[in-house]
Amino acid sequence: MKDEQKIKCDKCGISIPDMPEETKPTELLCNACYEKQNKQVISVDQILAALEEDQYLGFCLACGNEQGGCEPDARKYKCEACGERKVYGAEECLIMIG
Ligand SMILES: [Zn+2]
Ligand SMILES: [Zn+2]
Repeated sequence: MKDEQKIKCDKCGISIPDMPEETKPTELLCNACYEKQNKQVISVDQILAALEEDQYLGFCLACGNEQGGCEPDARKYKCEACGERKVYGAEECLIMIG
């Protein structure tokens, strides 16, 4: 009988076969979920804060830049920082990443 610990991804629940002890994060994620999380340049908290304060803030989903002058339902605005048309208003961001 093998003393094998079943480790599961916190996000999607697939079992992770072998995770080196030293890279074990507090939150157990499979590679796919881990990468996805790292790619997420803005946090839900950030967006909620912007909504709460009624700031017309948009967020660039490419680089994470906060951009003023965006309606909550703004879509595909041009980012002043990176030039990508990936600035979305706070409400739109919530729908996309929330
Ligand atoms: Zn996963
Ligand atoms: Zn940008």
